[in-house]
Amino acid sequence: MRLVDYTLAKRAKLTELRGGRLSRDDVCDAHPELLRAARNVGEQTPTPCPVCEAEPLVHVTYVFGEALRQANGRVWPRTGLADLHRSMDEVACYVVEVCTGCYWNHLAQRYLLGRRHVG
Ligand SMILES: [Zn+2]
Repeated sequence: MRLVDYTLAKRAKLTELRGGRLSRDDVCDAHPELLRAARNVGEQTPTPCPVCEAEPLVHVTYVFGEALRQANGRVWPRTGLADLHRSMDEVACYVVEVCTGCYWNHLAQRYLLGRRHVG
């Protein structure tokens, strides 16, 4: 499983926020669809939101792959990922972290699933 982690980009963004070069409105701009996904199928993490520190971060996973057809680019529940891994050749997963309290959102990870990436 090839994994790209976006922690550095996140840290840079938070540094800009704390330094006043970005406002809270700039970084806490989660789309209503993303917030709905976070509430309905998001996976709650033990990590508090780095901006408001009041709510735990929620991970929302989007899946991309030609073979997914209409589901290409859709939000996918975490529990359904193992099935995709077994049944698809290749699926790209993008994990977005979201705070449902202050609307902070950031791309956290990208990784590839599928039979092509087994082992
Ligand atoms: Zn927050």
